Amino acid sequence: MAKILYGKTAAAEVRSEVASAVAELKERGRPVRLDVILVGEDPASLTYVASKERDSQEVGIESRVHRFSADVSQEELAGLVGRLNEDTAVSGFFIQLPLPEGLDSVPLISSITTAKDVDGLSPESAGRLAVGLPSLLPCTPHGVIQLLKRNGIELSGREAVVVGRSNLVGKPLAQLLLRENATVTVCHSRTQDLPEVTRRADVLAVAAGRREMVGAEHVGEGAIVVDVGIHRKEEGGLVGDVHFDEVEPKAAWISPVPGGVGPMTRAMLLHNTVTAARMGPRG
Ligand code: NDP
Repeated sequence: MAKILYGKTAAAEVRSEVASAVAELKERGRPVRLDVILVGEDPASLTYVASKERDSQEVGIESRVHRFSADVSQEELAGLVGRLNEDTAVSGFFIQLPLPEGLDSVPLISSITTAKDVDGLSPESAGRLAVGLPSLLPCTPHGVIQLLKRNGIELSGREAVVVGRSNLVGKPLAQLLLRENATVTVCHSRTQDLPEVTRRADVLAVAAGRREMVGAEHVGEGAIVVDVGIHRKEEGGLVGDVHFDEVEPKAAWISPVPGGVGPMTRAMLLHNTVTAARMGPRG
């Protein structure tokens, strides 16, 4: 029977560390503030932003949401990004994605100053990660690494396989695993014979966005399996990219959905915000 990688437990640890750091900064007269740019009425985005606001309040981070209707212009958003970059009261900020049609997130994200890029998604942050310079790390892949490390799992020298190569998850996760001295293979939709590759993994991280696509045939005995996927079931509840019931008997460790990577992603945003505050102009 596999041991469970409980994201809720590890995320609670991270939140408590962040709360102490925020309190310490406040005592020194430097409140921590996280701003969000929210455009349109996408229900998932509204829910995510509300939960990020709640998370922030819980650890003492002030949060501000800059709301716009879907017909806001690209120029207006670019102007706000410029002002938030300069505003010394703002520790960090992010743009809630996806943006409504007609708006281009790429130039906006590219113009976020790296010191405040708490999503870690700007090309400069990605480049700094790739060449080993300090930067704020994308929340989901950093959350995966923290989930493994906080459960005492050693990554150095292990065979790691990442399924998925998105800029949001797969690519930065591969970079972070490399930084931990794992031997890394990245799979994608053109990978030939996926089960043959994934069965070699000591650590298998799945971020393919395909409901329960990883089954028993994809996993070697004793593997450590991290499921990044999130899918809403018609009957209610959530399920991942990994078929939990099939894979769990073979795995040494497995992360559940819900309660695995999701809570870590949320916690790492708070971690990045306090890191940005420490690095900031008054840091
Ligand atoms: P994307 O759709 O951007 O990327 C999916 C990747 O998986 C692509 O690189 C794609 O390959 C690859 N892929 C798709 N199908 C297959 C297949 N059959 N075999 C091998 N590789 C395949 O997704 P994201 O990276 O944004 O997200 C992945 C999942 O993680 C989603 O379920 C998402 O909801 C979830 N997620 C969860 C978060 C959390 O906090 N837990 C946060 C962010 C995302 P190719 O490049 O060739 O198309």
